[in-house]
Amino acid sequence: MIAKGNVTIGLETRFGPNWPGVRCGARTKAGGECQRPAIKRTGRCTRHGGKSTGPRTQAGRDKIAALHTTHGRLTKERREAAKKRAAVGRKVRAEIKEIETSLVEQGVLDRNWRKDWIL
Ligand SMILES: [Zn+2]
Repeated sequence: MIAKGNVTIGLETRFGPNWPGVRCGARTKAGGECQRPAIKRTGRCTRHGGKSTGPRTQAGRDKIAALHTTHGRLTKERREAAKKRAAVGRKVRAEIKEIETSLVEQGVLDRNWRKDWIL
């Protein structure tokens, strides 16, 4: 124990050869076992035990989504709304084309009526 004024700092819990915590134990290139503190659920240290598999809770997923959202123009909701608008536009254009065809057939409109306003 180290005494500093009236505070004692525990040497027995400080990392070293006599550290009481759980050690990693992964096989090293030298043949021994990794001695770093095991902090993962797998009982391995930060260098061993594989990559992170990502957030698991909904709060964690929301946090990651918020971090990766730059302007929100390409969110699922916005893309869905754009798809709906495009479908409505297609429907409207199809109706206009239908009306135009019927008017041309009835002789109300000239077949090349659109070319009038280009010239
Ligand atoms: Zn390790």
